[in-house]
Amino acid sequence: EMAHFALFFNQGQCCASGSRTFVHESVYDEFVEKAKARALRRTVGDPFKAGIEQGPQIDSKQFEKIMRYIRSGVESGATLESGGERFGKERSRVMWRFADLLEDHNDQIAALETWDNGKPYEQAAKVEVQSWADKIHGLTIPADGLHHVQTLHEPIGVAGQIIPWNFPLLMYAWKVGPALACGNTVILKTAEQTPLSALHAGLPPGVLNVVSGYGPTAGAALASHMDVNKLAFTGSTETGKIVIQLAEKSNLKPVTLELGGKSPFIVCEDANVDEAVELAHFSLFFNQGQCCCAGSHTYVHERIYDEFVEKAKARALKRVVGDPFKAGTEQGPQIDSEKFEKILRYIRSGVDNGATLETGGERFGTGGYFIKPTVFSNVQDDMLKAQDEIFGPVQSILKFKDLDEVIRRANASNCGLAAGVFTQNIDTANTLTRALRVGTVWINCFDVFDAAIPFGGYKMSGNGREKGIYCLQNYLQVKAVVSPLKNPAWL
Ligand code: NAD
Repeated sequence: EMAHFALFFNQGQCCASGSRTFVHESVYDEFVEKAKARALRRTVGDPFKAGIEQGPQIDSKQFEKIMRYIRSGVESGATLESGGERFGKERSRVMWRFADLLEDHNDQIAALETWDNGKPYEQAAKVEVQSWADKIHGLTIPADGLHHVQTLHEPIGVAGQIIPWNFPLLMYAWKVGPALACGNTVILKTAEQTPLSALHAGLPPGVLNVVSGYGPTAGAALASHMDVNKLAFTGSTETGKIVIQLAEKSNLKPVTLELGGKSPFIVCEDANVDEAVELAHFSLFFNQGQCCCAGSHTYVHERIYDEFVEKAKARALKRVVGDPFKAGTEQGPQIDSEKFEKILRYIRSGVDNGATLETGGERFGTGGYFIKPTVFSNVQDDMLKAQDEIFGPVQSILKFKDLDEVIRRANASNCGLAAGVFTQNIDTANTLTRALRVGTVWINCFDVFDAAIPFGGYKMSGNGREKGIYCLQNYLQVKAVVSPLKNPAWL
């Protein structure tokens, strides 16, 4: 306390200020920890206000000089424990440092993702970071003209987050970024299959806590904990129903859900077939077909159907399957034996129900959970209706006659995560975009993700949105503050 006073009094602008704090080694670490905590508690702001301990520096020249000294301290290797910049930027600084660490260690983290998950190394661990931390603020509201009304956007508190194995690092970044930017602390549970990359963090102790464990134990404990104030879940629709019940039965914590999908990829009659085949292939086979938004239902107009099927088969046959660490590999193994067996069961049921197996349909090689890229044609809606997501490298191609029909069939699904539309006609694109009951429509592109573009589902694909400005409301409380504009108490 005394050393803090000796230095910080009068904004540190004292000729006699205790600017060099010598501490005996036996108490050094404890002292540093407590000095940092004390500095973080210091109230900075309007010098006319009661309780304010620190006002602004005297002028821009002194201000810039101090900032230069701080930078030179960092460059010379001193450890910056707290502060170091214009007041109000601390949380933002932490977020950018976190982002820098992710970028600096990108190769190492990409390798962890490939070991954990089997996805091709060249596709692993490219995360993009933006910071909202210093842009969160409330509003002033005119209301009745008699009161000053303002809103404060405050953190909810402790956010519990549960993520799946299919994009371990991407899901981690989508979840952790907005929660921390809004000032919450996080307890994040990774999927049991993929614990490694998320354990590679770089944040102050206690801010982000990663728990590795199984769903029914670690995941359920988080969902039902009384001290967790908010739950964000990404995973299957089945588990989503369980966690929402656990949240309701405990403390009614708000829950956002990012669940499964059965996304249509609609190829219209005016499409360039070669380009449509390539994009439809990518929309389904990317990440071994293990994408929540995979274009699993390829609807193709009857006029180009046969040509499309022929070319889709040829493209699947060219797909490079194998060692995910090898350059040029497009497809690695499925995540585990359970999912591998499930995909093979779905393939058998497709054959039993009369769909035409154009290519693939079986294990690739003799070891590991590799599946040959598989294409079915002559698929009927009722064959796909009963099943949940195949979540594997299996493309189902369906035929349609006109737009009204394909809209009706695509919307008949109980999911509504995403859709792909391939057309050269702007009217067709606009009609489909507005008619499809899904959270994302990609027109003549697919899987375009950006930290600023919201992502989430209609219907049983979930609620709430990840990423961008829409995501922040999941992690903020809004407090209304009302006071009279004229009141004797102000005098
Ligand atoms: P899953 O539901 O089995 O597991 C997801 C997470 O929930 C894991 O961390 C798991 O340990 C945990 N969990 C399991 N049982 C639990 C319980 N009783 N209580 C609390 N937590 C529990 O899903 P999965 O098979 O690992 O992941 C694939 C699913 O995730 C697919 O359905 C896919 O569509 C979906 N997904 C959705 C999105 C999206 O943004 N909408 C993104 C990626 C994946």
